[in-house]
Amino acid sequence: MKIYLNNQLVDSEDAKISVFDHGLLYGDGIFEGIRIYGGCIFKLEEHLERLEQSAKAMMLEIPMDRGALLSAVSDTCRANNLKDGYIRLIVTRGVGNLGLSIRNCEQPQVIIIADKIQLYPQEYYEKGLKIITVPTRRNNPAALPPTIKSLNYLNNILAKIEAQNLGYEEAIMLNDQGFVSECTGDNIFLIKGGILYTPKIASGSLKGITREVVMGIAEGLDFKVVEADLTRYDTWIADEMFLTGTAAEIIPIVEVDGRTIGDGLPGKNTASFLKAFKQKVTEEGFHL
Ligand code: PMP
Repeated sequence: MKIYLNNQLVDSEDAKISVFDHGLLYGDGIFEGIRIYGGCIFKLEEHLERLEQSAKAMMLEIPMDRGALLSAVSDTCRANNLKDGYIRLIVTRGVGNLGLSIRNCEQPQVIIIADKIQLYPQEYYEKGLKIITVPTRRNNPAALPPTIKSLNYLNNILAKIEAQNLGYEEAIMLNDQGFVSECTGDNIFLIKGGILYTPKIASGSLKGITREVVMGIAEGLDFKVVEADLTRYDTWIADEMFLTGTAAEIIPIVEVDGRTIGDGLPGKNTASFLKAFKQKVTEEGFHL
């Protein structure tokens, strides 16, 4: 496998970065997870835009412009003959000393991995996923804005550990006001009375690219979309519920905190969203 590392495609065994990189020492870096479907990279511009915004927010200068990043991503897919898979684009702060200061970090490192995707088991899509709310709260935006897609995922990892300790694969995270924020790696949607609800970005969620796509699909399906302060109660009484993310796409939820959602089967509207989404990913995208 070829990995893109600072202007070069190198063999994976040679793709190494320093132990003094602040990405490793402090989680000081940013990333994007991107999908490629049938040789077309889905929403590449949107992912690059979010990466640039994450960089700006943490005063990290990406040493490449949008065009160069775009070429690097497609070159990496081509070098690995990847037509369907997952692209991980990472920018770290680079090598520094053992202090937190970014001033002595020399050169941000750009890494691109283009690999096969590790999907959730098909069973989850057919039967739906059962999830649980965990005690770990989503980062307060005043402490670390969850809109920055940083390498610092410990908040989400702690929540995932809590869910897995209880036998669940995904967790609902609340914000520090007690409103639903997002799952550990996916955004949340619910349908109630013909309206599609999702937590506001201000509730501490990532501005998911799949979230945006689903909100666009909702228009075509004649669903009103409401971004709201949602409570656990709202999730329990939802008619349908699903999660969205680049890797998971759209995954139906059939149980939250032991409460059955709808009739306990993936909802028919959820199926319509998934169908429209699948169609979009094959029709749209940046051709290699
Ligand atoms: N929330 C979090 C915390 C995430 O890490 C992700 C991406 N895995 C998402 C939401 C979904 O975002 P996207 O649709 O852009 O993949």
